Amino acid sequence: MSTYDILDDRFRALIIGHAKLEHLWTGARWCEGPVYVPAARHLIWSDIPNDRLLRFNEDDGSVSVFATPVGFHNGHALDHQGRIVACEHGGRRISRLEHDGRWRVLCDHVDGKRFNSPNDVVVKSDGTIWFTDPTYGIDSAYEGEHADSEIGGSHVYRFDPASGTVSAVATDRIKPNGLAFSGDETTLYVSDTGATHVAGTPAAIHAYALGADGRSLRHDRIAATCDAGLIDGFRVDWHGNLWTSSANAVRCHAPDGTLIGRIPVPEIVGNLCFGGPKRNRLYIAAQTSLYAIYLNTHSAGFGRAFRT
Ligand code: MG
Repeated sequence: MSTYDILDDRFRALIIGHAKLEHLWTGARWCEGPVYVPAARHLIWSDIPNDRLLRFNEDDGSVSVFATPVGFHNGHALDHQGRIVACEHGGRRISRLEHDGRWRVLCDHVDGKRFNSPNDVVVKSDGTIWFTDPTYGIDSAYEGEHADSEIGGSHVYRFDPASGTVSAVATDRIKPNGLAFSGDETTLYVSDTGATHVAGTPAAIHAYALGADGRSLRHDRIAATCDAGLIDGFRVDWHGNLWTSSANAVRCHAPDGTLIGRIPVPEIVGNLCFGGPKRNRLYIAAQTSLYAIYLNTHSAGFGRAFRT
């Protein structure tokens, strides 16, 4: 299997020709939610059915259990103080790992109703926390606890830690899943895995334009589609390219939506994130395993924090 499928010359500038996809570890049931913690030089990710967080130590390549049981975590993000923000299927809530090592619940309901099972999360530069809330953690007992939806829909939410308020910002998706801001935060990208529940739902990433208030969203366009399974987690790089999950590869879409390249992966890709001291190492959470590959690009967030 070749390391790259180059579909457009623009992809050549984003890869290291001789870099290989590294298989770092295996032994999970379903990997999700990778987050790189620069100060510790480690990657934390979820093994959802086993209800544990795993840690890849970048210094020596070792993997250990970071926390278990933890409440069936799914997606994670880092806030601007370097704290991990988590989506919990079991507790149906958003929590944060404080500097003293304790998990603190940030929000667990909206309009008096419990969330379904928060799936993925990002932190905006203003400190607000944006997350998706499909039903995968309550549809069965495999990745959480079987329960009915109290909300009756799967939406995207914005939580403001300063005020403690939470509000729905997008209610037009079937199963919103991964999400990420463009580098300039004028666009919020949201993937929809609704085909799991409604046949024919396109596997796609939807682009929403942010209003001048920095919180209202307007559906703008479909930014990427997928013909190999679903798009779950994804990330945006410094140049505005979308690096997405799929059934058999990491796929790269140019800002104009064109699929420009693929990195084949021998398992179903659930999520990915940029890591390493230069944020140019793509960590890939794929079914039972953790993979990584070095790229000639880096995360959009890294550029915002360190280049501007
Ligand atoms: Mg997800």
